[in-house]
Amino acid sequence: MRRKLAAGNWKMNGTRASLAELAVLAKTHAASEVDILICPPATLLTAACGHAPLMIGAQDCHMATSGAHTGDISAAQIKDAGATAVIVGHSERRVAHEEHSEIVRAKARAAQAEGLTAIVCLGESLAQREAQNTLDIIGGQLAGSIPDNATGENLVVAYEPIWAIGTGLVPDLAQIGEVHDFIRSRLERRFGAGVGRSVRLLYGGSVKPDNAADIFTVPNVDGALVGGASLTAADFSPIITALETV
Ligand code: PEP
Repeated sequence: MRRKLAAGNWKMNGTRASLAELAVLAKTHAASEVDILICPPATLLTAACGHAPLMIGAQDCHMATSGAHTGDISAAQIKDAGATAVIVGHSERRVAHEEHSEIVRAKARAAQAEGLTAIVCLGESLAQREAQNTLDIIGGQLAGSIPDNATGENLVVAYEPIWAIGTGLVPDLAQIGEVHDFIRSRLERRFGAGVGRSVRLLYGGSVKPDNAADIFTVPNVDGALVGGASLTAADFSPIITALETV
């Protein structure tokens, strides 16, 4: 009942030359039955649009609609650029920009108010996992970062253990399953079964062509948020194919 989603986060990578990758992906997956979302840097948002069936998203937004916020972009501007989604609460922003859950929630609310899908990221550090605090951390981030008006259309949740991002380390399938089941049950408890079961849950953290198919067999994994392996069609396309064939 939930449509699968393969999302790529280009982070601070890519120039106009990189848009050629989108053309390849769009052609290869023209008849795809999964959603494919690319989140390029803000400089490429408008230029990245127009490669159907690919959808385009941003990597962050400000919580205000406009004003004196040098260097930031608003959800309205992201929508105006042609994007339909925005990542909020990525650990690189939670850590490097000290964005705590209250800020993430305000950003998600701003995105949803503009009709964008907010992709809210959650994840524990290695120290937190080793201290067996993973579910407490995820539960706290989930409660604090998700606005009250969540629906299956305006919210996607991405579980991204910080220690797995860009490291080549991946939790085992049981660990991924435990956290995804936990997120699902918390969403159902807070929003009711209808909404709770309709929100898509992505796994993120060193997803590659050679591990994607296994990860996609885990219950409650509805797709992936992919960093490094989303930068080229050669790497991202097999991940999309794995999701299409699961
Ligand atoms: C990310 O930063 O969202 C991510 C999952 O990165 P990578 O796939 O490179 O680990």
